Amino acid sequence: HLPATYANILNEREPQYSQVDDLKINWNPIDNYRVVQKIGRGKYSEVFEGVNVQNRERVCIKVLKPVRTVKIYREIKILQNLYGGKNIVKLYDLVRDESSRTPCLIFEYINNIGYRKLFNKFEDQDVQIYMYKLLEALDYCHSNGIIHRDIKPQNIMFDYETKQLRVIDWGLAEFYVPNQKYNVRVASRYYKGPELLVDDTRYHYSLDIWSTGCTFAEIIFQKDPFFFGDDNQDQLIKIAKVMGTDSLLDYMKKYNVSVSQYFYQKLDRYSPKSLKSFVNSENKHLATDNAIDLLEKMLVYDKNNRITPKQALQHKYFNPIRARLSEWEDE
Ligand code: ATP
Repeated sequence: HLPATYANILNEREPQYSQVDDLKINWNPIDNYRVVQKIGRGKYSEVFEGVNVQNRERVCIKVLKPVRTVKIYREIKILQNLYGGKNIVKLYDLVRDESSRTPCLIFEYINNIGYRKLFNKFEDQDVQIYMYKLLEALDYCHSNGIIHRDIKPQNIMFDYETKQLRVIDWGLAEFYVPNQKYNVRVASRYYKGPELLVDDTRYHYSLDIWSTGCTFAEIIFQKDPFFFGDDNQDQLIKIAKVMGTDSLLDYMKKYNVSVSQYFYQKLDRYSPKSLKSFVNSENKHLATDNAIDLLEKMLVYDKNNRITPKQALQHKYFNPIRARLSEWEDE
C-alpha cells in the first residue's frame, strides 16, 4: 500500500511538523483589513476580496464557518508548512473578530476568472503551462508529506494574463503517514479516485494525480466534468464505462477490497475505451497525442501504478514550453 516516493517524509521531520492539536495561534485584530466584495462561498467558508489597509495590497479573506477547531488548525498548519512552495497559495495572516471570535484566514489574492470561462479561452500552450504549474505544486506538497485531497478546477486559481497559478483550499489536506487508514469521504464527486469509491482507506499521494487527470481530461476534451456521476456509486460506473470493468476488478482483488452485492449487479462488463475516442473537431487542438499519452498515465485504477508529479513534469507533452518556463515564473 505504500507510495513509491515520499513514503517516509514525516519521519524525517520534527514531531511539531505534523502536530496540530497543540498549535499556538496568535490571532491578529481584523481591522488591518477592509472587505471590498464577496467573491465566493464554500461549504466551510465565505470568501471576500479585501485590502490590507497598511500597504494597500489586495488580499483574499476567508471567513471560516464554525467547524471543529482541529480541522481549522490542520488547514493552518499545512498552509504554514507549505508557505513559499511553488504555486501554493500564501497564507499571510490570521485574524479574529474580537466580538464574534470568528477566525479569518488572510491569503494573497489571485485574479481568477471562473474555470469554465478560463478553459474556454485555453490554447494548447495555456493547458501545458496550467498543467505544468499544477504538477509543480503537487510535487512540492507531496515532497513535504502532504496530500491535498480536493484537487479540482475550482481549487486551482489561474491568472490568465500573467499565467500565475495557485493551488488553494487546503481544508481537506492531510499528512501522509505510511499505512495509516484515511477517511474516504474526501474530494469532490467527479474528481474522486477509484480508491475512495471502493472504500480503500489506505490511499496516498496518487489520489491527487487521479483528480488532476480528471481536471486534465475535462480541459483537453472540453467535457465538464469528464466523469459525470449522479452519486458515488454511479461515479464508479461512469469511470468503469471508460476504463473498463476487468481492470477495476483486478485492482480490487489486488488490494482485497469489495463493493456491495447491489453494486456488482449494476456493474456491467464494460470493455475499456480508448481515450482517443473522445477527440472531436472541437477539441482536437488541445487533445493532442502527447496530452492523451500523459493523461493515460494519470487515469490508472491502481493507486500504485499512476505517474507521479515528478515523472509527469518530465513528460514530452511539456517539451514545447520547457525552454520558456522562466517567462511565466512569478517569483
Ligand atoms: P469548498 O466548499 O469548495 O471546499 P471552501 O469553503 O473551502 O470551499 P475555498 O475553496 O478556499 O473555500 O474558497 C472558495 C472560493 O473563493 C474559491 O473557489 C475561489 O473562487 C475564491 N478564492 C479562494 N481563495 C482565493 C484567492 N486566494 N484569490 C482569489 N479567489 C479566491
